[in-house]
Amino acid sequence: MTTPATTPETFPGASDFVREIVREDLADGTYARVQTRFPPEPNGYLHIGHAKAIFQDFGVAEDFGGVCKLRLDDTNPESEEVEYVEAIVEDIEWLGFEPAEVLHASDYFGQLYEWAEYLVDRGLAYVDEQDAETISQQRGGYGAPGVESPFRDRPPVESLDLLRRMRAGEFPDGAMALRAKIDMQSDNMWLRDPVMYRIRHAHHHNTGDEWVIYPTYDWAHGQSDAIEGVTHSMCTLEFDVHRPLYDWFLDHLPLPYDRPKQIEFARLEFTHTVTSKRRLKKLVDDAVVDGWDDARMPTLRGMRRRGYPASAIKEFLHEIGNSRTNARHAFEAFEAVVRRQLNLTAQRRMAVLEPLRLTLTNWPVDEAGEPVVEYVELANNPENEDDGVRSVPFTGSLFIEREDFAEVPPPRFFRLSPGREVRLRGAYFVTAQDVVKDEDGTVVEVLATFDPETRGGNAPDGRRVKSTMHWVSAPHAVDATAHLYDRLFTAEVPGGSTGEPLDDLNPTSREVRHAKVEAALAEVEPGEVVQFERLGYFALDPDAEMLFHRTVGLRDEWAAIQRAQQKRGQQKK
Ligand code: ATP
Ligand code: MG
Repeated sequence: MTTPATTPETFPGASDFVREIVREDLADGTYARVQTRFPPEPNGYLHIGHAKAIFQDFGVAEDFGGVCKLRLDDTNPESEEVEYVEAIVEDIEWLGFEPAEVLHASDYFGQLYEWAEYLVDRGLAYVDEQDAETISQQRGGYGAPGVESPFRDRPPVESLDLLRRMRAGEFPDGAMALRAKIDMQSDNMWLRDPVMYRIRHAHHHNTGDEWVIYPTYDWAHGQSDAIEGVTHSMCTLEFDVHRPLYDWFLDHLPLPYDRPKQIEFARLEFTHTVTSKRRLKKLVDDAVVDGWDDARMPTLRGMRRRGYPASAIKEFLHEIGNSRTNARHAFEAFEAVVRRQLNLTAQRRMAVLEPLRLTLTNWPVDEAGEPVVEYVELANNPENEDDGVRSVPFTGSLFIEREDFAEVPPPRFFRLSPGREVRLRGAYFVTAQDVVKDEDGTVVEVLATFDPETRGGNAPDGRRVKSTMHWVSAPHAVDATAHLYDRLFTAEVPGGSTGEPLDDLNPTSREVRHAKVEAALAEVEPGEVVQFERLGYFALDPDAEMLFHRTVGLRDEWAAIQRAQQKRGQQKK
């Protein structure tokens, strides 16, 4: 048994507006090579949204024979932890990509500082002694003019002296800031003298106590790209408005490097989920989920535990392509890809999630008076003959699914009920005769007879049954726990009506079942996904013993959604 491969191949012929730009840049000589970076802030675990960025950053580099490096964007001292850094590298590898190098934005603090002095010297940056709130108010807004700081025109030597003393730790947090001197009346808010350095007496996980001033995102990002030799710097659409500032800094610095180019693309969002580290962290902190790697989390760790193959994430990303239009994708569309892949690779097994005893009253005993054990051959995967068959023990003492029996069958219930004959998959036809109840009147056992002529699951007289059910031999069964999942958020757009996603939390997103499963399931490898017949795909937990997470059910909900959409479309016409 093998889990689906997570090979790092990109998909042939991938084509989108980013690759178009790169192609042109190579053709017209703007760049002679391609280098990209994936720049997460190490303040949380990577989520499915990041997978899109990873797929783009690494994919574009691969397609054009370039390199992609991992840059930990660790300019913010307080919120970052080393714990996240290792996890980020692991998660990227799980997706099938390997960074050419692991770098830290904080490694460039020295160079950035030199460049800051360079800008101050040239009158292109100044130290503002106003507090952060005043600076922010003076920025104005759209249609509201910016107000120039009274410190804006101070002589460069004065700013230089203050900047050096800021760096030396002479001033408390927030006492002053270094700002670029650009244009307080620009239509672009980001060009209204943006802050480059703020004072923060804080310990940094990489640079320790060396710095008490820390660069802002805008001051660090483009320069880091340039230092590393990045050619195409991809980010999400909200940075579109930062691009003029990105370019302004690069235009005014003595760069010994090729100038990188920022390209924005749409964020990946899904229905019924959130992709924001801050929001995901809240779910962890509030103990709504077990942790960042809870199987309900849209983090890459959570998705891995859940059993979503990395190859399905990549296939889905390839399918949706890349554009500059933000869209929220139906999670069912992703699940359809997962189901399609698992159908080809997952081994079929039998598991009973809510066991009800089924006793065959006419089952034979051997000479020693022990019930006979027979073995039935079942295909491991009808989609792949090479996966072969296995022998599954069958006896007269079985477990079936509680919901496969009804003492009084409702209309259109074709499964087992008194007097009704059904097929036990690959074994025999059985007919329910009677039930045993506990004091509360709950059925605890079904007594049935089997027809020895139907061995293998077919009647020689051609008689038919309306239902085929899965089963497990009771003396051979292994105990297991199954977690069944529903959406973590009930609303398609969590927080869509109140602005607070937590208002739309699904209180019953996880159901726990104590299952009886066939013995072969004790051989499954941690993380492997199998199909429990009729119930869905289940992944064995990587840590806990015999704990299975339902990855996805068998029903193609996406097809149903598409049919409904089509129908609505036709009605409109
Ligand atoms: P979050 O809001 O979850 O903290 P972020 O954008 O701050 O996300 P970073 O770690 O700074 O997260 O992002 C690393 C890279 O991943 C950036 O290039 C960012 O644009 C990209 N990215 C983050 N979220 C998404 C998303 N939902 N879809 C596509 N790319 C994303
Ligand atoms: Mg961020």
